[in-house]
Order: sequence, then structure tokens, then C-alpha cells
Amino acid sequence: MDTALKQQFGSDNYAGICPEVMQAMNDANQGHAASYGDDVYTQKACDSLRSLFGTDCEVFFVFNGTAANALALSGLCQGHNSIICQQQAHIDVDECGAPEFFTHGAKMLSAIGEGGKLTPADVTRLANVDADNFHSHKPKVLSLTQSTECGTVYSIEELKALTATARELGLHTHMDGARFANAVVSLGCEPADITWRAGIDVLCFGGTKNGLGIGEAVIFFNRSLAEEFAWRVKRAGQMCSKMRMLASQWSGVLEGEVWRKNASHANDMATRLAKGLAAFDGVTLNYPVQVNAVFVNLPDKTKTDMHDKGWHFYDFPGAGSRLMCAWDTLPETVDAFLEDLKGCLPQP
Ligand SMILES: *Cc1c(COP(=O)(O)O)cnc(C)c1O
Repeated sequence: MDTALKQQFGSDNYAGICPEVMQAMNDANQGHAASYGDDVYTQKACDSLRSLFGTDCEVFFVFNGTAANALALSGLCQGHNSIICQQQAHIDVDECGAPEFFTHGAKMLSAIGEGGKLTPADVTRLANVDADNFHSHKPKVLSLTQSTECGTVYSIEELKALTATARELGLHTHMDGARFANAVVSLGCEPADITWRAGIDVLCFGGTKNGLGIGEAVIFFNRSLAEEFAWRVKRAGQMCSKMRMLASQWSGVLEGEVWRKNASHANDMATRLAKGLAAFDGVTLNYPVQVNAVFVNLPDKTKTDMHDKGWHFYDFPGAGSRLMCAWDTLPETVDAFLEDLKGCLPQP
């Protein structure tokens, strides 16, 4: 019996595990290996990440993005501090207060940030509190999401301007890179160009949405901020004992640059979808399509009819319906969606 759900645009984490990752896990599934990361597979994945970024960074593996972000932030600030982010930031609205919990209550300061992006002026304005006065709170971190919650991408110049502002204000810089790979291939740059070379202290590198089954990497370019991070990971229940199974998945996407292939494919499918959508009368896109997300305005009746036809996708307040493409989205799925949509749009 075929129980598989047909391909959907609900999220990029609807997709399964890519074959290269399955193979890498299978290759690591040989005999015994030391636990908690003291094994050759974990060593190899860490070394591959260091060589990908071209720097001697500290690497940690955790199970999911919420933990990666919350723990990274807990290493950058304390409860009396504040964290600057964009209004739709996952850390502020999608993590059930985990960053506040693990930082022991750091305050989130957010700005609207058009198109998902903060500007240096936003950062300066939000950080303009009486930080020397202990009655206030002390801004300590700038958190940027790359690619953004709106499916847009910060350019290298935009990032450099933001981190320069952060540096002047004495803020550490965190990047939520749940869709980091999609941003790198969109910009046609190297991972280093939008991280440490652009002034980022710590990156949460998303694996799950790129084709892993489970796992995100927390990468400290500023190594002094990684002090005692392993203790934080363990205390949060995020330390994998059979670490080779988490780490080998990374080797599956790092070898042969599969991460680039997966991200490019997802981005290309979003472009195909966006082109098809834009060709329909009365259908408008809310943001430029720069990665694997398309935000589209559809009539309510059309949405209901599409859901009735079995298509899964979600509405985001003020941003329209979000259609996400994944590493395995087939062009035929995009075309079938567009064909069904044609029949569900109001007839002129
Ligand atoms: C998916 C996502 C995460 C990670 O979410 P988890 O469900 O905790 O793995 C983090 N940040 C952004 C922007 C995301 O889209």
C-alpha cells in the first residue's frame, strides 16, 4: 500500500532524507565506535565543516534548530541582556520561549524589518536604551536570519553594514541559518563570505531542511564564545550519545557539495513556481523569490479549494500563503500545483 503523502509545499521539512545522507549513515553503521563524538565519523564531519568555512571554527551538533538557536544565544548573553531581531524571527515567535528559557530571560527587541531584513538604523534604534543604567536591560546580541523568514537574502554588503553597527554597539552576532545553504547558493558566494568574513560570531547551520533527517550544527567562528558550550548542550538534553549517526549525516551533504545541489534545486523549484504564479491574472507575490520560498496572495475561496484538492500550505499573517520547495520537489509537482490552481482561481 502506498501510504506516502504526495509532495507538498507546506514546508521544506516535509521532505525526507536525501540518498547521500542515508548512505553516509549506513557507512557509519559499522561495528562499534566511541560515543558522544569521540569517533572518526564525528571528527571527519567537524573537519569537513572547518574546511568548508576555511577557518578553525568550533563545531557542535544538536538535534534541531530551536535548540541550536537557544543554546547559541545562551552562550552569547545573560538574562539581564537583550537580543535584537526581526519581527518574524523564529527565535522570537516560533520557539516557544526557548531562547528566553536558556538565556534565563534575555529580552527580545524586534523591528518590523521590511522583507524580513533588519537595517543598521533598526539596530541602532533598538539598542538605544540606557544600557549603562541597571534599571534598563543591556543589549548584547544581534540575531540575523539568513535566508530570512520572507524568503529573501541579505547581501554580503548588508551583512557587513549590520555587523559593523553591532560591533560599534558592543553586540555579539548570531545567524539563524536554518536555510543557510539556500542563501549561499542564491548569492553565489562561499559560506565564509556571509559568516566570519562578514563579522558573524556564531552560525546555526540548518541541516534538516537541506536533506538531513535530524540535525543542525552550531558553528562558533569566535571561538572564545564557545567556552563550556558542550556543557550547555548536554544540560539541554541535546548531546547525542550515538554521535556518529548525527555527525555522519553532515558528511553525506558535505562530500561532493551535496548541500549546494540540494539547496540549488529547492531554489530553482521556487523560481519555477513563482514564474507560473506570476503568469496568472490577479495573483501577486509578496516578496522577491530569492531562495526556496514563495509568498503569494490568493483569494480565500481559491485557498479552500486548493486545500480540498489535497494541497498543504500555510498562511502567514500579513505575508500571504507560503509555498516552500524542498531538495526533492519535482518539477512535475510544481506544474501539477499550478494546473490545479488555474482551475481554482476566479474565472474572468
Ligand atoms: C525551521 C527553522 C528553524 C528550526 O526549527 P526546528 O523546528 O526547531 O528545527 C529555525 N529557524 C528558522 C528560521 C526556521 O525556519
